[in-house]
Amino acid sequence: MNSEQKGFDEGLSEVKEDVEAKVKKSVVVPEYLTGQSKIYFRCYPGIGCFTKCCSGTRILLSPYDIYALKKRLGMTYNEFLATYTRQSFIDNTPLPITILKMKNDETKSCPFVTAEGCTVYADRPLTCRYYPIGMGIMKQFDKGTGTNFFIKIKEDHCLGHNEDKAWTIDKWRADQGSTVYDEINNDWMEVVLKAKTLGMVEFSQKSLSLFFMVSSNLDAFRKFVFESNFLNAYDIEPEVVKRIKEDEIELLKFSLSWLRFTMYGEGDFKVREEARKKARERLIAEREEQARLERERSHKEPD
Ligand code: SF4
Ligand code: SF4
Repeated sequence: MNSEQKGFDEGLSEVKEDVEAKVKKSVVVPEYLTGQSKIYFRCYPGIGCFTKCCSGTRILLSPYDIYALKKRLGMTYNEFLATYTRQSFIDNTPLPITILKMKNDETKSCPFVTAEGCTVYADRPLTCRYYPIGMGIMKQFDKGTGTNFFIKIKEDHCLGHNEDKAWTIDKWRADQGSTVYDEINNDWMEVVLKAKTLGMVEFSQKSLSLFFMVSSNLDAFRKFVFESNFLNAYDIEPEVVKRIKEDEIELLKFSLSWLRFTMYGEGDFKVREEARKKARERLIAEREEQARLERERSHKEPD
């Protein structure tokens, strides 16, 4: 087995464990699929299990999910986050993430489910679109090439697997409208999947706070860009500044590519020399202050 295959298998096994842990009632070990693999599945109002998948579940919200839902509901980011979400962590990483806050009823149902179905169907989150498929990407980071693979999740309560409608995975994804989500979330997914590959590595508190802000609150990121020193620190083309000022989706894409740059140095953002110098000076001053405080503490400690 070459190292590329080994890395791929390790990534697959990690995602399998992840899915197995979550899908406690799974009757089938998640199976490895490609975009061309065939599945039999159909979900429709009137099926015996209709909306059973919308209770007692954990729905992670990607940046584009939050954008689409808050827009649909006519809310600001702060209003949406406070009303419908809570904070959790992405499995096997220290990364904070926003998840849908389930209702406090007997079945812990989704705030958007009714007997008639999903009230935000056209803007439902990516996790709901993919179901019963889960996706993993084992990225060869140093080579810039990646491999997509998918996992079928078969839960006891889901009767859609007994239907005879055939799909390839790619057709299923296209039918569910996940393509635009995948495209816009791409840089964010890379950050998350790289963190999952690295495991529980230590990120600075500042990196974790930035990750959470960029992942969940574009209004906060907008303030960060236009009301801080951001535009002095980075050399950004004036037409890009204009675009992200006027177009929320452009700002969202910009925020996710900046996140990838700031967490992993990937991408082509240019830090201005003056800002780099100031950051270095600030770091030295912080370290000196830290050393001074430690010296003071050790002098005060009794013998
Ligand atoms: S967002 Fe819609 S599809 Fe997703 S769990 Fe809630 S009700 Fe179900
Ligand atoms: S078929 Fe599966 S996905 Fe569709 S409503 Fe039933 S449990 Fe949910």
